[in-house]
Amino acid sequence: MSVAVEMVKCACADCVCVVGASEAIMADGRGFCSDTCASHHQDGAGCAHAGCLCHG
Ligand SMILES: [Zn+2]
Ligand SMILES: [Zn+2]
Ligand SMILES: [Zn+2]
Repeated sequence: MSVAVEMVKCACADCVCVVGASEAIMADGRGFCSDTCASHHQDGAGCAHAGCLCHG
């Protein structure tokens, strides 16, 4: 038996990150991988995850 962990793709269009549903940052009814994505990169910073180039 393996526990199925629901994974959600970050709702940021440019973001390739996937996070566990329990860890996702919820905003606007969608899940994001980080606060920077959840705030639509208003500060221009990326999500800081390796290999991800999203800047909003
Ligand atoms: Zn990302
Ligand atoms: Zn993201
Ligand atoms: Zn992002």
